Amino acid sequence: MKITVHRGMDQIGGNVIEISTDKTKILLDAGLELNPIEETEVIKTEDVVENGFDFDKLLRENDFSAIFISHYHADHVGLLSLAKNLPPVYMGKLAYDIFKATEEYKNNIVNFVPAGYFYDSKPIIVGDIRVTPVFADHSACDAYSFIVEAENKTVVYTGDFRGNGRKNFSSYLNKMPQNVDAVICEGTNAGKDGVNAKEAELENKMADVMENANQVFVLMSALNIDRVVTVYKAANKVKRIMLQDVYMSLVTNLCGNNIPNPCTFNNVYAFTSKGMDEEEYSKYFAGYGNKKMGEKQIADKKFVMCVRSSFKNYLQKLNSIKPLSGSVLIYSMWDGYKNQKTIKAFLDFAQSLGMKIVDIHTSGHADCNDLERFLEKINPQYIIPVHTVNTEWFVEKYGTEKVVRDKIFIV
Ligand SMILES: [Zn+2]
Ligand SMILES: [Zn+2]
Repeated sequence: MKITVHRGMDQIGGNVIEISTDKTKILLDAGLELNPIEETEVIKTEDVVENGFDFDKLLRENDFSAIFISHYHADHVGLLSLAKNLPPVYMGKLAYDIFKATEEYKNNIVNFVPAGYFYDSKPIIVGDIRVTPVFADHSACDAYSFIVEAENKTVVYTGDFRGNGRKNFSSYLNKMPQNVDAVICEGTNAGKDGVNAKEAELENKMADVMENANQVFVLMSALNIDRVVTVYKAANKVKRIMLQDVYMSLVTNLCGNNIPNPCTFNNVYAFTSKGMDEEEYSKYFAGYGNKKMGEKQIADKKFVMCVRSSFKNYLQKLNSIKPLSGSVLIYSMWDGYKNQKTIKAFLDFAQSLGMKIVDIHTSGHADCNDLERFLEKINPQYIIPVHTVNTEWFVEKYGTEKVVRDKIFIV
């Protein structure tokens, strides 16, 4: 079995990994290099080609039988929208529904319907390659790792995963094979000190901060479903309503009745931060009945509002109805995003309104302890680090014999 890391080695995201046998070629993930920071931002085609990677050319020059998408983050799925002739695509059903709804919200056309969907631990066979998706915990829901078997070899691809979410890490580990020939392992947090806080621990921290604040805003990704649950539980503890904009509501409604959403949770409401014409308004608010709120209604309530950095004007509007000083903005994303222009401007703006900024976040990626636990369990002969800028950590820990730095490797 041949493994080719077309992209994703020594960088975080942009994964494109090929697995091939004599008879069959498949791809694992087709990601953009851009960070999926601002979900409402339109991705430009030129950026991808400028980065020296021509996905369309790769598809033209190879006869791939399938593409397996681990999860809906743009750094794993984003290239698909740019391709002209896609081979059959496989991904999670909910992952696809969320991907489609959010792309269409951004007026992007989704150019494929999956040839099949994943079910936890149920193999999909393509030619002489067998791929078993294993449900993984990550800051995107409906995410998977893959067990790839062919030519009497077993290779695991982690996709993005962690051990500190609400899913049980031990049961994930129990589904994994042992003594595998190789693992293509994400290492976003490789070499970083400290242990990831549990998603559930954030809940108490958030509730404490929410208790005495005027109003509460949470700057976060609308696609991070675990975090939506955390924010909801905290808001519930301090008896505040939760406000989700139409974009987040689109996502949470798709996730089903158990995830806080404006349709089935009586203390969750929908709003829009952007002006909409009548047609758009009725399209997005059709199912919400009395669960939608305008600014004036909102200003009268004690609330927790999930926001993104594009909401500056909307916050300004709320502030003019009722001053927001004494409010709290919970920053619940990766710390590094603070250096980005739009995020920085948004935080400065929040402060100028008299808001206090409090950081409450935990990573969507395995910390070193969990990486070690995982690697101990599957006991791989070779480790191919991807989605990391710290391959050195793997080398120091597991040695040059075991850790592969070549983009093409045969097991
Ligand atoms: Zn990723
Ligand atoms: Zn991800």
